[in-house]
Amino acid sequence: MASKTTTLLVIGGGPGGYVAAIRAAQLGVATMLVEGMAPGGTCLNIGCIPSKALIHAADEFDRVRRATPGAVSSPLGIRAEAASIDLAVTQAWKEGVVGKLTGGVAALLRKAGVQVVAGWARIVDGKTVDVAQESGETLRIQCEHLLLATGSEPMALPQLPFAGKVLSSTEALALTEVPRHLVVVGAGYIGLELGMAWRKLGAEVTVVDVAERVLPGYDEDLGKPVLAALKRMGIVLHLGCTAEGLTVDGAGLRVRSRHADEFVLPADKVLVAAGRRPLTAGLESLQLDMDGRAVKVDASCRTSMRNVWAIGDLTGEPMLAHRAMAQGEVAAECIAGHKRRFAPLAIAAVCFTDPEVVAVGLTQAQAAQAGIETLSAQFPFAANGRALTMEGGEGFVRVVARQHDHLVLGWQAVGQGVSELAAAFSYAIEMGARLEDVGGIVHAHPTLGEAVQEAALRALGRAIHL
Ligand SMILES: Cc1cc2nc3c(=O)[nH]c(=O)nc-3n(C[C@H](O)[C@H](O)[C@H](O)COP(=O)(O)OP(=O)(O)OC[C@H]3O[C@@H](n4cnc5c(N)ncnc54)[C@H](O)[C@@H]3O)c2cc1C
Repeated sequence: MASKTTTLLVIGGGPGGYVAAIRAAQLGVATMLVEGMAPGGTCLNIGCIPSKALIHAADEFDRVRRATPGAVSSPLGIRAEAASIDLAVTQAWKEGVVGKLTGGVAALLRKAGVQVVAGWARIVDGKTVDVAQESGETLRIQCEHLLLATGSEPMALPQLPFAGKVLSSTEALALTEVPRHLVVVGAGYIGLELGMAWRKLGAEVTVVDVAERVLPGYDEDLGKPVLAALKRMGIVLHLGCTAEGLTVDGAGLRVRSRHADEFVLPADKVLVAAGRRPLTAGLESLQLDMDGRAVKVDASCRTSMRNVWAIGDLTGEPMLAHRAMAQGEVAAECIAGHKRRFAPLAIAAVCFTDPEVVAVGLTQAQAAQAGIETLSAQFPFAANGRALTMEGGEGFVRVVARQHDHLVLGWQAVGQGVSELAAAFSYAIEMGARLEDVGGIVHAHPTLGEAVQEAALRALGRAIHL
C-alpha cells in the first residue's frame, strides 16, 4: 500500500474543512485534505449555493409569470405575453455557478499548497487514515494532527426512506421536470425554501409538519409573514400532522392529522426535509466523547482525543456554513500553535424564504430566560422608503437591548432582502454597540438599513419615521 505523511490531515472539503486547510497551509503547516466529492462540500455542491441559485431562478420566473394575462395584474404596469421556463437550461446554469465555485475552491487549495487527495477516508486510528482512491488503490496517510470535517447528512424518516419519489434536498435541487404535486415534509428552512421555489416554478405544493407552526426554530413573529406568503402563493399547509408513508399504490402520501384521522395527499414527489444529523459513521474506532449525535469539542475545536480536532456540522448545531468556516480558521490556527477560541457572541441564522428571515443573538424571550432585563422595539418596513420601492412593505426589523446600558443583544428581521442585514446585525453585537451607537450612525438613504437605525431609535423612544 502506498503511504504518505503530513502534519495535518483534514477529512472533508466542505466550508469547514477547506477553510481550515487553506488557513493551516498559510501558516506553514504541511496539510493534506481528503474529499470524496468535489471540493466545497454540502454547501457548494448540494446545499447553500444550488438552493439559492434555484430560488433566484424561481423568483425571476415568477416575476415574469405574474405579468402574463390571467395573472393578478402587476401594479407596476408590466405586461408579458407569456412566460415559459426551460428547466434543463436553468439546471445547467445552476450547475455552472456550482462549478465556478467548486473550481475556485480547488484553485485556492492548490495555491495555498494544500495536497488534495480525492477519495473516501477510512480512519484507522487518530494518526492513520486509509483513502480508497478512484484508481482502486488505497493510500495510507500518517499525520500528527487529524481534523474531522465530515459534515452532516439529511435525516430520513423510517416510514419514508429516501428512494424513488421520496427525495432528500439533494434530489429536490436537481429535478429536471416540475412535479405536478410536490409534498414537502418539514416546515423548517430547507423545506420552505425549496417548497416556495418549486411553487414559483409551477408545482402544486403541500407542506406537512408535526409542529404547529412554520419555521419552528425561529421566533414566532418572524414566521407570521412567511406563513401569510405561503398561503398567498397557494401552498397548502397541514401543520400538527404527521407523514405516515406512501399509499400502497405509491400515488399519494398518507398523513395523520392532529385529530388522528388519516387522509391522503396526491404526490408525484415527496421532499423529506426533516433535519440533518452529523455524519459520524466511521468515527467509532476513535471512541470520541459525544454531545448527543455530535462530536464534542472545546472552544479550540479539540475533541477528547489528543491532536484530533473537529469542526462544522459534525460538531452539531447551529449547522451553518459560516459557523463551519469560522471554526475551521480557529482550529487551523490552534494547530499552528496560536491561541484561539471559537467564542462568537452571535451567529446569524438566515432563511431564504420569500420574505427572508434573519435572526442574530438573543430574542427578548431568550434574554428573559437568561435573567437579563431588556428593552425591545421593532420598525416596520411599511415605513421604509426603500422597502416600498421594492414592493417589500411587509415585515420588520426588531432590536433587543440590555435595559440598564442599552447594549445590543439581538436582532430579528423578516422582509424582502433582509439576509443582507445580517452583517450589520453581527457587527453591532460583536463590536459591543449600544442603541445610541446604532441610532447615531448616518445610514444611507434609501436603504433597508434605515430600518435598523430606526428600530434602535424607537427602542430609545425617539423614532423619526414612525
Ligand atoms: C439544501 C441546503 C441548503 C442549505 N443552505 C444553507 C444556507 O443558506 N446557509 C448556511 O449557512 N448553511 C446552509 N446549509 C447548511 C450548510 O450546507 C452546512 O452547514 C455546511 O455545508 C457544513 O459545512 P461542513 O464543512 O461542516 O460540512 P459539509 O459541507 O457537509 O462537508 C463535509 C464534506 O466531507 C466529505 N466527507 C465526509 N466523509 C468523508 C470521508 N470519509 N472521506 C472523504 N470525504 C468525506 C463530504 O463529501 C463533504 O464534502 C444548507 C444545507 C442544505 C442541505
